[in-house]
Amino acid sequence: MSEKTKILLKEKHMPKAWYNIMADMPNLPKPPLHPGTKQPVGPDDLSPIFPMGLIGQEVTQERWVEIPEEVQEIYRLWRPTPLHRAHRLEKALDTPAKIYYKYEGASPAGSHKLNTAVPQVYYNKKEGIKRLATETGAGQWGVALSQACNFFGLECTVYMVKVSYHQKPYRRTMMQIFGSEVFASPSEHTNSGRAILKADPDSLGSLGIAISEAVEDAAGRGDTNYALGSVLNHVILHQTVIGLEAKEQLEKVDAYPDVVIACCGGGSNFGGTAFPFAYDKIVKGAKVKLVAAEPSACPTLTRGHFGYDFGDVAGFTPLLWMYTLGKEFMPPGIHAGGLRYHGDSPLLSQLVHDGIAEARAFGQTAVFESALVFAKSEGIIPAPESSHAIHAAVQEALAAKEAGEARTILFNLSGHGLLDLPSYDTYLEGKLIDYPLPEENLKEALKKLPQV
Ligand SMILES: *Cc1c(COP(=O)(O)O)cnc(C)c1O
Repeated sequence: MSEKTKILLKEKHMPKAWYNIMADMPNLPKPPLHPGTKQPVGPDDLSPIFPMGLIGQEVTQERWVEIPEEVQEIYRLWRPTPLHRAHRLEKALDTPAKIYYKYEGASPAGSHKLNTAVPQVYYNKKEGIKRLATETGAGQWGVALSQACNFFGLECTVYMVKVSYHQKPYRRTMMQIFGSEVFASPSEHTNSGRAILKADPDSLGSLGIAISEAVEDAAGRGDTNYALGSVLNHVILHQTVIGLEAKEQLEKVDAYPDVVIACCGGGSNFGGTAFPFAYDKIVKGAKVKLVAAEPSACPTLTRGHFGYDFGDVAGFTPLLWMYTLGKEFMPPGIHAGGLRYHGDSPLLSQLVHDGIAEARAFGQTAVFESALVFAKSEGIIPAPESSHAIHAAVQEALAAKEAGEARTILFNLSGHGLLDLPSYDTYLEGKLIDYPLPEENLKEALKKLPQV
């Protein structure tokens, strides 16, 4: 790196290392188990589809992991992301609370996912990998990985859940602009895809099926690896740039949050935002509340079972120690597509179980109401996923008003909603409905948990 670049990086106040919460957790999650033998997985089990650089980060208990210079140079395109004080939202809510938000929608991909896509591609390239295969649901992860592969000159193949492939054509276009090959999943390109199509030619696909296709693709070719956009420890590690920057930005205005909020699908933007503050809580006794906001239609942390489960429908992936609704749980088609996952990050799950973080679940009509209040006051149209965090922040601000307390609230705005406008149409037409999960359905889904 040139001297000039080094000086620029310093001036930009970007973190030089990621924070690894495994160094400080009072209890670590139980280890991932091999799906066949049910014994803890070792590096050799993972090396057919992941580079050793990332496998090492999955298990390391070093507190700080240096961010490679090549990754920092690309981060510089959009990092540090802005931290805004939401003055106009505070006024609209007539609250004594101070509301700050970190804006990850400012990335070229439009969400926080590029923070991990860039280092994932970097470590793969370093180990000679030429091509990555992945799945994507609503498309945010596929877009981020496509951009990162383009930066480093790797090929990228994305299996995109068929229903989204047709419903969200613009995210597919974005992936293709960056040179990726995009297949509607289930596809004719893999055995698992062909088997599903044979049984049901009209299958709309699911994230679980798309994962099976991408893993099969990667495992079958020496030049190809697989990449995952959330849940795993190394993904959350990369996302900690969000919270580390926010801490420094808040310090500059002499502020420290009473509560830190982020939405939660697999837990990566929550972990990235909240774990640097969890460090203060665990190590220094700070009294900060850490709140994960999830959909009541897919209430993994608030109502799920804490134990081992598979990460995908077919049962190809290792068993992870986490909160889960059962791998066969089919969440209803809520508009926050990025929050429809049956499991959650093992690190976050353990912290919730140990009472260090907490979770709240919200219905999508209330979430969209808060999204509109936010859009009208701050001018940014938020992603439906991120709007869960906005709603939790609004509730905290209203509680502060009720109590006559000057609370400081920090939330992460994980992405913008400019490619989610059809969802806003549905809301504006008054056609949005809530899908609270009936207890019987939950019990049914949990019956099929694997016996370990
Ligand atoms: C993918 C996504 C999420 C959910 O994923 P996490 O891993 O829980 O962060 C949230 N917000 C946006 C904008 C996303 O694209």
